[in-house]
Amino acid sequence: MSGKTFYIETFGCQMNVHDSEKVIGTLMAQGYAQVETPEAAGLVLYNTCSIRDKAEQKVFTRLQNFKREAGKGKVFGVLGCVAQQEGEKIFDRAPHVSLVAGSASYTRLGEMLVQLEAGNRRVTGLSLDTGETFDTPFTRRDNPHRAYITIIEGCDKSCAYCVVPFTRGPERSRTSESVMAEARRLAEQGYTEIQLLGQNVNSYRDPSPAAWDFATLLARIAEVAGIRRVRYTTSHPRDFVKAIVDAMDANPVLCDHVHLPVQSGSTRVLASMDRLYTRDDYMRRIEWIKTARRPYSITTDIIVGFPGETEEDFQQTLDLLDQVQYDSLFSFKYSPRPNTAALAMGDRVPEEEKQRRLVILQEKQRAIQIQRNAGLIGETREVLVEGRHHSLGQWIGRTSDNRTLNFTWDSPPGLSSSDLAGKYLPVLVTRAGPNSLVGECATVV
Ligand code: SAM
Ligand code: SF4
Repeated sequence: MSGKTFYIETFGCQMNVHDSEKVIGTLMAQGYAQVETPEAAGLVLYNTCSIRDKAEQKVFTRLQNFKREAGKGKVFGVLGCVAQQEGEKIFDRAPHVSLVAGSASYTRLGEMLVQLEAGNRRVTGLSLDTGETFDTPFTRRDNPHRAYITIIEGCDKSCAYCVVPFTRGPERSRTSESVMAEARRLAEQGYTEIQLLGQNVNSYRDPSPAAWDFATLLARIAEVAGIRRVRYTTSHPRDFVKAIVDAMDANPVLCDHVHLPVQSGSTRVLASMDRLYTRDDYMRRIEWIKTARRPYSITTDIIVGFPGETEEDFQQTLDLLDQVQYDSLFSFKYSPRPNTAALAMGDRVPEEEKQRRLVILQEKQRAIQIQRNAGLIGETREVLVEGRHHSLGQWIGRTSDNRTLNFTWDSPPGLSSSDLAGKYLPVLVTRAGPNSLVGECATVV
């Protein structure tokens, strides 16, 4: 391998982004240097996503593009969910790949690198049979203000459409002591925002005798000195208990936002998805949030075109949008995935119909967002400054309720453009679009 250099590209969710930060830290601790292009690297890694077919195909396109590079002594590795799902079949499909490892095996990454360095060209890490979580002292974080902390890995649910339980294995929670120690260390290093991660953070259960549940963990993390914002993702409605809303209400460090994926507004479809709640159960949780002491933004995930979804079911999802008034949502066309229960279900919705439903859903949500965001004009919101749009002459801010609020600020002479990043500032909202807000900051920093 030439000169111990590596390139990594990450696909998919925040869990993958954070896994890559840990992988990068581990590689650097083993003497590897990160480079910006695959051409410049000795080791090329793809941390992959297989949640939908389109995401999965991306990695094979990448590998195909760089096939010729393999001849130049490069080593290729496929990490993450596609690696776990396809396993050794990847060696057949892309013979220039030498490493195939799923996230449950990253604790063995150092060992796997040693094998690659020794010239082994068929190195695998595919066991899901692990009680361990991938905690590493070497995490290399990209954002200087916001840090991810994994609190739980894997998933014990079995949603009929979802590949995650097969690619990330069973649930494993980290000890509260280890999570708290990481939060304190991050605060000491100057991070002010923490995002707790897991496929289902609500089912967090401290494996140590303290036995904290998720609401307790949230409350304690919010008390760490120096931490000004705490977010978490993802919740599962079945495990989203009232104590979570109570903990949020009790401490404004816990951000004004709940992402509560619903998937469908039809109880019939929810049952066939095996989501373990009804529409009424879901609405009860929305009521807890809406009747809380301070306002929270609410966002969700929706799948259209699940097998057997009728026009009537779809109308119920549209009706749910009217009822809840989400601040934002992620919407997907159902994509059949290997190993999942939904594969065997009949009544497939044709592709054009899925597309039609997706467009209708997105148009409806766009109208809701235009109206909700317009209601914020004239209000002042605190933002964490994330960066700058040089071309627009605007700073990029994020509100506690997870909106993008771009703003202008008349800098006093002598202050450089990087001076605002990481600061918390009050911004007056002056304009609103469907996906973001625009405002002005008059504060002298
Ligand atoms: N664990 C989280 C949860 O329970 O919501 C996140 C799972 S997944 C990474 C994020 C979203 O992708 C899901 O909420 C779902 O809407 C969507 N999704 C998962 N599998 C899908 C599939 N086979 N087809 C289309 N969308 C899918
Ligand atoms: Fe997938 Fe359901 Fe687990 Fe979320 S809760 S990761 S959708 S199986």
